[in-house]
Order: sequence, then structure tokens, then C-alpha cells
Amino acid sequence: MAFDYNRIFRSALEEVAAEKRYRVFAEIERVAGKFPKAIYHGADAPRDITIWCSNDYLGMGQHRDVIDACRDAAGRMGVGAGGTRNISGTSHPLVNLEAELADLHHKEAALAFTSGFISNEASISTIAQLIPDCLILSDALNHSSMIEGVRRSRSEKKIFRHNDVGHLEDLLKAAGKERPKLIVFESVYSMDGDIGPIGKICDLAEKYGAMTYIDEVHAVGMYGPRGGGIAERDGEMDRIDVIEGTLAKAFGCMGGYIASNGDIVDAVRSFAPGFIFTTALPPSIAAAATASIRHLKASSAEREGQQRQATRTKDVLLRRGLPVMPSVTHIVPVLVGDAELCKAASDRLMDTHDIYIQPINYPTVPRGTERLRITPTPFHDDALIEGLAEALCEVWDTLGIPYAETVRAAAAE
Ligand SMILES: *Cc1c(COP(=O)(O)O)cnc(C)c1O
Repeated sequence: MAFDYNRIFRSALEEVAAEKRYRVFAEIERVAGKFPKAIYHGADAPRDITIWCSNDYLGMGQHRDVIDACRDAAGRMGVGAGGTRNISGTSHPLVNLEAELADLHHKEAALAFTSGFISNEASISTIAQLIPDCLILSDALNHSSMIEGVRRSRSEKKIFRHNDVGHLEDLLKAAGKERPKLIVFESVYSMDGDIGPIGKICDLAEKYGAMTYIDEVHAVGMYGPRGGGIAERDGEMDRIDVIEGTLAKAFGCMGGYIASNGDIVDAVRSFAPGFIFTTALPPSIAAAATASIRHLKASSAEREGQQRQATRTKDVLLRRGLPVMPSVTHIVPVLVGDAELCKAASDRLMDTHDIYIQPINYPTVPRGTERLRITPTPFHDDALIEGLAEALCEVWDTLGIPYAETVRAAAAE
């Protein structure tokens, strides 16, 4: 009898469904100029909704300069890149983009990839592979793309407890000063909204002779006087060996990058399959991203607006007794604590209130900490925030989700 291949896939899906974490995507049509309003294509006729979970954190995806740069480049140079950079050459807008990125982080050079995911996977694995007997020290909550990079390097790795510099120091000490070491960590952790202790990690790196690699994906564009990230804000940029970021979140476009010294960037360029064997970013996207970075270097209005509205959102929700998890950044996580309830809350927000917030379930976050992850932007005005609070309370009441008091009482037991 022939092997029933499909049964394998069906049963894998059934398992995910049984755990209530089968993923359903919301079909959204964004409307340039109206963000965070969008059109939802659900089971019924299309209707207007408000997005509260976009990583287009500053609305730059709809910025006039960015759209114009994209359209102009596509009009003049066509749509595709035409090949990998090895085989078909490097587009002029891509060279400009990399110069812009190097300048953003005050580094000698930068290298653009087709996504932030690829930039982490390709760079971490290549850097660690080139270092003989490299020991990687990796934060426990690092993003999947960094974990893939660590894995693919086949280097030895040690995981340090999240943001725990004491634990990191123990591991560094145990490895000894002589052994080459690479510390990989993030600045803003996107599910909790907390921040890595960059300065202290750099102190340890210097003390024990380690290299540092930081993922600033959820910070570039949004922190620092020119949008260089938390490391820029804290004056630590020059102490970090490799800064990685994305062009797809606050910059509103697509692609990822690293910024570092000339030799490291050149080595990744020369050895990373994830860079070499894939078609480059198209000129239109490179030009759009450059326009976005340039704008945010000079303008703090978006950053200030985002911080103001994120703080306001936290205040308004907390005043209503909603279980906002502690966050020192623009990310506003609200605890639900159960996968099924989390999905039900998200569904009800969409169905009854025209509000889109994706449920965040395991494995993105630990079981029991399922949450709604809210990302206010400068375009979420005070009235929208009031409407959100109203809707969340209705959902919390209807579904019997615990308010902050109940959560605190349970935690104290
Ligand atoms: C989203 C994300 C990435 C990947 O960036 P993309 O450009 O979306 O591929 C990398 N690191 C972290 C922490 C992220 O959240």
C-alpha cells in the first residue's frame, strides 16, 4: 500500500488545532493615508476596522516621501532587482541604502538582506562559523531568527537567563578569557516590551573579551535622537560590534540589515549563503527604505507621537483595571492567560467592535501568558484609545477574563 503522506500533515494540523493554536490570518486591506484604518475581508462583506497590532510602528509605510520614492524608483528602474548581487550587480539605490544605514549607526559599513529574519540567520551563523572554537552566549528570549543563526553556525552555545547579566558573567567566566565568545541579544524584546541591559553587557564583553551582536529590530527608527535605536539613545552604539535591524517595522518597508566594521560586513557579504544566493532587494524598496530612514533621522515628531500615545494607552487601560503587563517601551501587552480565551477575545474585538488585535499564543509566548499585544502609533488618537478601552472592557466582561486585581491576587497566593 502506498504511504499516506497527507495523513502526516493532517494529523500535525489536528494537533495544533486541539491545542487551540491553529493559526488563522485576518485578511486586511490597508488604506494608505487612513492608517490605522483598514478594510477587513472576512466571511461577510468587507468592512472598515482599526488595526491595533501593526508593526508599521510609525505609519511610515504610508508616508508620502516613502511612497513617492518607491513609485519613482519603480517607474524609472522597473520592478525587480534582476538577480543576486553576485550575478547581476548591485543596484544604485541599494548602495545608497547601505550608506544611509552605516551612517545611521555610525559604523563603517552596512549590508542589506531581503528580511530581518535572514539578516540574523545569515550573519550570526557566518560570524560564529568564521571564529575558531566560538562560544555563543544567547539570551533565553532571543527571536527565532537569532536561534536559527546560532543553530546553523554549529558552534557551542550557552543560553543565559533573560536579561540576567549575573548569569551571563558566570558563563563568560567559565569559558575563560582566551576562548572567543559572541554575545547575541536584543534591545527591545517585542512580546514583553522590556529592554536588554546594553551597557552592562558591553562592560562584560570588554572585561571577558567577547564580541557583541544586538538585534535592534523593535527599536530602530523609534529610539535615539536619529532613530538609531536604544543603543543610540543610551550612547552605547560604538561599543557594539554588530547592530542588526529591519526595514520592515518602524521604517515601514521590507528587508533587514547589519551595520558593523568594514571587515565584518565584508566577511558576511563574502561567506553568507543567505546573502549570496538570493535575489537582492528591488530598487523601489531600497529607495523607499532610504527615504524613510532619512526622514526619521531628521524628524522626531513620529517618535514623540508614538511614545505619547503608547503611554496614554497604558494609562487609560490601567485606569479601567485591565491587566496591562509592565512595559517600558511602546509595546502594550495585555494579559489573557489562556489560549482559547485569547483567541475568543481577538475574535470578539473584530466581530463586535471592528478592532483588529491578533492573539499571541504559544510558542511565541510561554503557555499561561497568552496575551493581546497592542502597538499604538502616532496615528492612534485619543478618541481611538477611548474606544479601545471601552471595547476591551466589554470583551473582558462578556468572556469573564480576569481584570488586573484578580491577576494580582492570584499571583500573590
Ligand atoms: C520581526 C523580527 C525579526 C525579523 O525581521 P523581519 O524583517 O520581519 O524578517 C528579527 N528579530 C526580531 C526580534 C523580530 O521581532
